[in-house]
Amino acid sequence: MTASANIATGLARIGMALRADAWSQAGTKNLSPTQAQILVHLVQRGPARVSAVAEALAVTQSTASEAVTTLVRKDHVERRSDPDDARATLLHATETGRRLAHELAVWPDALLGAIDALDPVEQAAFTRGLVKMIGALQERRAIPVQRMCVSCAHFRPHAHSDAARPHHCAFVDAAFGDAAVRLDCGEHVAADASVQLESWTRFKEAAA
Ligand code: SF4
Repeated sequence: MTASANIATGLARIGMALRADAWSQAGTKNLSPTQAQILVHLVQRGPARVSAVAEALAVTQSTASEAVTTLVRKDHVERRSDPDDARATLLHATETGRRLAHELAVWPDALLGAIDALDPVEQAAFTRGLVKMIGALQERRAIPVQRMCVSCAHFRPHAHSDAARPHHCAFVDAAFGDAAVRLDCGEHVAADASVQLESWTRFKEAAA
């Protein structure tokens, strides 16, 4: 088996465990995994159109619309006019939807425990590998663009000589290491294409 097939097998095993957990967690709240994901997305990212939700979660518009209809019927989501476009509607989580989303947005203990079992060097290498893999998948348009440090205007890769904390976040004005490179950050601001390219190159080269 090649190294890539071996890693893909490992990722698939982890994916299976996560899917099983997502089904059982969502099931206890009487939701499907897609409905649960939409609810968590709206609470974490704020009001959005159905098309934007579908794109962010990499599902078809009809799958997202169907899930939203159920969420609206259950009073977890409501549709309101988009202040920027009177013909469009935005999805908002209701108060009960918010409460539910906070209960759903918790990673399984088994997964967190398995990650905690890695030592700091392994966690840093793992995060670096994930960032590079997600970047490559984005380039191939296999997954939606993520709010990662590497594409953020606040990111300064390898700005410090400290090997343990070489990167800098200009938003919080602090140094951090590879294990803390964010894969989904609420403060992310997309950098210009040329800055993103420079950051990616610097991050990949210095990590090699
Ligand atoms: S704001 Fe967030 S995404 Fe941007 S560099 Fe800082 S931690 Fe990374």
